[in-house]
Amino acid sequence: MQQSPLKTGSTIGILGGGQLGRMLSVAASRLGFKTHIFEPGANPPAGQVADHTTTAGYDDVAALEAFAQSVDVITYEFENVPTAALDALEAICPIRPGREALRISQDRLIEKEFLSGLGLNIAPYANVETAADMATAVETIGAPSILKTRRFGYDGKGQARLKSADDADAGFADMQGAPAVLEGFVQFSHEVSVIAARGTNGEVACFDPGENVHKDGILDTTTVPAKLTGAQRTDAILLAAKVLNALDYVGVMGVELFVTPNGLIVNEIAPRVHNSGHWTQQGCSVDQFEQHIRAVVGWPLGDGTRFADVVMENLIGDDMDRVDEIAREANASLHLYGKADVKPGRKMGHVNRVVPSS
Ligand code: AMP
Repeated sequence: MQQSPLKTGSTIGILGGGQLGRMLSVAASRLGFKTHIFEPGANPPAGQVADHTTTAGYDDVAALEAFAQSVDVITYEFENVPTAALDALEAICPIRPGREALRISQDRLIEKEFLSGLGLNIAPYANVETAADMATAVETIGAPSILKTRRFGYDGKGQARLKSADDADAGFADMQGAPAVLEGFVQFSHEVSVIAARGTNGEVACFDPGENVHKDGILDTTTVPAKLTGAQRTDAILLAAKVLNALDYVGVMGVELFVTPNGLIVNEIAPRVHNSGHWTQQGCSVDQFEQHIRAVVGWPLGDGTRFADVVMENLIGDDMDRVDEIAREANASLHLYGKADVKPGRKMGHVNRVVPSS
């Protein structure tokens, strides 16, 4: 679907006012666009750098309609926007990336069916809605395995690990009645992600895959270049492009992969800019935030070439105590999100440490 690009000075509506919305707003502003944030919570980090902020819930139809009328395109920083809110918005203004990407990524079961339907490798899985489903799932998938809620999981939340079949009852109880999937445990050597983008004219550009290390279920570091063979790097990019093309996608997507001796396994997709793509801010001339803005306004994409080796480290909770020290480092680029309260597990900022590529 080739459409004429939005003119600079147009307004981009962003659902969600966290750090991703904040960095999208800054990128939009650099290209001469205005932004309007829609966020239920007070004082959102993105509100500090946006032209307008609406503070209202996703069930406030009047506020959603007024927001949609005030913007030229709508995008989002998180995938769990309620369907009814999307219906109200889409009747007035286009949403990019489109609804299909949201429908699929909001539900792990639908996501897995979609990915395997494309012929991509994923962990073995089984749907678990009842105690009887759980018993069958443990028989077919076995242990070790991971039980994950189908909806609203993030940063390792809504997950229970089964070391053996004996953990099945406790794991099922942990889901508190929420529909879930049981996933076979993948024996991976490391995790990588591809940040991929697709424009309104169907062009696709991928950033170099990054290698991700998690701590306590939350992304800790992303390193580029990732440890991958040339063939694995090509595979990662081709499979990401396949996902984007299948969805007629417009925008940036994060595709998380496990690296195994038998190839790449897709863990999950996120239809938005992604924490593991923050390294692009110092590694590329067009970073993931500008890339997403370019895509949703119908501009040509940046090509994604990486000019530096980068290690991105998330600053979580008390890591903020180290900011002074990090600010003295020669090659460290700090990005702080303007969040007033430091809480354990809360993403407060990140730092990109840069080494020029040899
Ligand atoms: P997720 O919320 O699905 O991204 O899972 C969070 C983290 O748990 C992943 O980044 C992995 O480190 C780990 N994990 C998730 N699913 C699996 C799996 N099937 N096998 C092994 N590790 C997993």
